[in-house]
Amino acid sequence: MKKQTWLVLLGTLLVPAIACASTNFDLQKIGDGVYAVIVKPGNIVGSNGAVIINKDDVLIIDTHYRPSMAAELMAEVKKLTPKPIRYVVNTHWHNDHTQGNEAYVNAFPNVEYLSHVNTRRDIIAKAIPSIKDSLATLPADIQRREQAAAALTDAAAKTRAMAEIADRKLYLSELQKMQITLPTLTFDHSMILHRGDREIQLLYFGRGHTAGDVVTYLPKEKILIAGDLITNGIPNYRDSFPAEWTATLKGVSHLDFETLVSGHGPVQTGKSQMLRLITFMDDMVGQVRKMANEGKSFDEVKASLDLSKHKDGLAGFQPPLGNEVAVKRTYDEAKGLIP
Ligand SMILES: [Zn+2]
Repeated sequence: MKKQTWLVLLGTLLVPAIACASTNFDLQKIGDGVYAVIVKPGNIVGSNGAVIINKDDVLIIDTHYRPSMAAELMAEVKKLTPKPIRYVVNTHWHNDHTQGNEAYVNAFPNVEYLSHVNTRRDIIAKAIPSIKDSLATLPADIQRREQAAAALTDAAAKTRAMAEIADRKLYLSELQKMQITLPTLTFDHSMILHRGDREIQLLYFGRGHTAGDVVTYLPKEKILIAGDLITNGIPNYRDSFPAEWTATLKGVSHLDFETLVSGHGPVQTGKSQMLRLITFMDDMVGQVRKMANEGKSFDEVKASLDLSKHKDGLAGFQPPLGNEVAVKRTYDEAKGLIP
């Protein structure tokens, strides 16, 4: 094995020590006063975040999908520091990153919510309306799961199913009174916070996973908190802008960082995962756009596209396309169907 390969493997396997663990999160110390909030598997939609403890205050990145999870994180932060939470960053509008917002202003009335201007717009236009959709579909989903759980004979499977049902019931009760607090400070390119001797850069490199993905970069600590612009495997393309996403990620990859916290999955060390993802995206976008421009239908594209060579290291990759939603979104974008 080449030395370089060992280094990549070593980088991928280095796991920071767990500072504390609650029901839904592990807090991993990744720098002086900087913690990755890594959600444990088993939630309906678990998303990661981060805690940055500054000289006089605390900044939180992303608020998970229900206020009780934000409150749970607040309780963990309280064990680490008596300093007040002053800032909450929303990396993008998706409900699993914003629905806990209200918990912070309830506990800290002076808290400011920071996001890209497009994220504030999309919380209003998309995240808040989608709560109604969830309220309409969740009761039937719970009922279906209860019927399925009743028929289970394996004790362990039944316990797991009942825990998932309890989680959904809790989610439903919180959704019924949920008000997503909107960002109070927005920007269109960058915002830099100087807190004591810590510099926190909030940077926008363009559209990608959504129209308003912001990364948080700590230059001195060489830490990047990237939201869902990058995940452990193939990210969610549902609301994405695939061609721009590749360019956006290339911009992010030029930052000088050693530790990366992504919106889903474990803490990463180094850039290997990001570069692997860029290579996949470049190939997918290039091939799909070429075929779309030649006039091929989506079914024809699907039939002739094979991205299987990118399978290794991208969790959830389903050969031959990797992810059909990603390919469809890329095709629609090439055809000018995405505004
Ligand atoms: Zn997302």
